[in-house]
Amino acid sequence: MTFEGMFYAGGMSHPAPHRDPQGSGCADGGDEEFLPPVPDAVDLVLESATMLAVFAAERLRRIEAMRHEALAPILGRGAGAVEMAERSIRLELSAGMRITEYAAGRLLMQADALVNRYPSALDALSGARITEKHAEIFVDLVDQVTPELRADVVERAVALAETEPVGTFRRGLRDLIARLESRTLEERHAAALGGRRVVVESGADGMGLLMLHGPQVELHAIFGRATAMAKAIKGSPGETRTLDQIRADVVADLLIDGTTAHLPAAASGIRAAVVVTVPVLSLLDDEAAAAGDPPVVEGVGPVPLSRARELCGGEAKWMRVLTHPETAVVLSVGRDRYAPPAALQKLVKWRADRCMGPGCGVPASRCEVDHQIRWADQGETALENHAPLCKGHHLVKDNTDWVVTQVPGSGGALEWISPTGRRYVVQPERKVPVFRSARAGDASNAPF
Ligand SMILES: [Zn+2]
Repeated sequence: MTFEGMFYAGGMSHPAPHRDPQGSGCADGGDEEFLPPVPDAVDLVLESATMLAVFAAERLRRIEAMRHEALAPILGRGAGAVEMAERSIRLELSAGMRITEYAAGRLLMQADALVNRYPSALDALSGARITEKHAEIFVDLVDQVTPELRADVVERAVALAETEPVGTFRRGLRDLIARLESRTLEERHAAALGGRRVVVESGADGMGLLMLHGPQVELHAIFGRATAMAKAIKGSPGETRTLDQIRADVVADLLIDGTTAHLPAAASGIRAAVVVTVPVLSLLDDEAAAAGDPPVVEGVGPVPLSRARELCGGEAKWMRVLTHPETAVVLSVGRDRYAPPAALQKLVKWRADRCMGPGCGVPASRCEVDHQIRWADQGETALENHAPLCKGHHLVKDNTDWVVTQVPGSGGALEWISPTGRRYVVQPERKVPVFRSARAGDASNAPF
């Protein structure tokens, strides 16, 4: 999902009295009178955020200069000498800034990376086109990319950081890196799979953490099923536990007793649901698979092809979305294809992948499908009138002064106009699905 801040792109030059709630027109186009810019309260907050970014970039430059200066005299000496010098610098920085040595070490690492390896990202921070948090995520993720691929990633990662809010940026960059590295995804996944384990960590007050380190698809399936059961239980009369508490109890009950028999009837029979999207030829042909996009699991990201083949091999609990390898047009969503509205809901969620609120990361499977124009107001049950929204964003849309509309002809983009008139457009993750007619045997009459 992509996200554009449309209004503020013009900076402070838009006078507040001219703020156009439709975000469509340029109110001062042929306007005779001149009004000096009058920043509103939101402008003032954004201005201070801009200053923070500028100062953050400057601080990183100075930290790197300090490190460089301290390391200069010992250049050419052994690794031991360099290590001691770096420890000394870290202590100096942490004592001076009154932060932990760990935090100081992070700053030194970020400064080194941005100044020496990713100057374009540092420029973006200096220009307040990205935040310090974006820069941090950038370094953490791009540093892990194999050096041969790094040049490919950097430029696109900067562009992504300049347009996306933090959460969307992190996901987008992870996806981008995974796509580029998908050729080796299979081997890396197989190697990582060897490290699966369950760990109990003791905490305070008689509490602790149970951690399952395993393949993401299964983890999401476990969490999704526990959530669905917890929601069913939460609806029962007299239930006072929070969703978090019920979910924890459900997982504990299932693992200790191995049964759901003692759970309320509403919670039994719930199975995990995972949506897996696969370019159709990938299932048949290794060459086609290597050339196309990797298979993707909703809310998880790319998965190894062998895993996708397993998931598509007939397990009823997986919803399969097969796409044309070149056009990404949906070929099939499985058996529900001609049975709206369930199929329509699936399509709407599949298209968006996530809540269509600005910057939101809630997976579509946990969202409500909203009628933008309500049924009562002649809204149609059609792809053009639906988008998934998480509970929180659904509430904001229905109960506040935010105005939300689907951009006509955009293939599912949502326009959010804030109460102060700022306009944000949230793009769905995927192209508008269009079914090809049954007789179509080739791609030539695909709509795009
Ligand atoms: Zn949301």
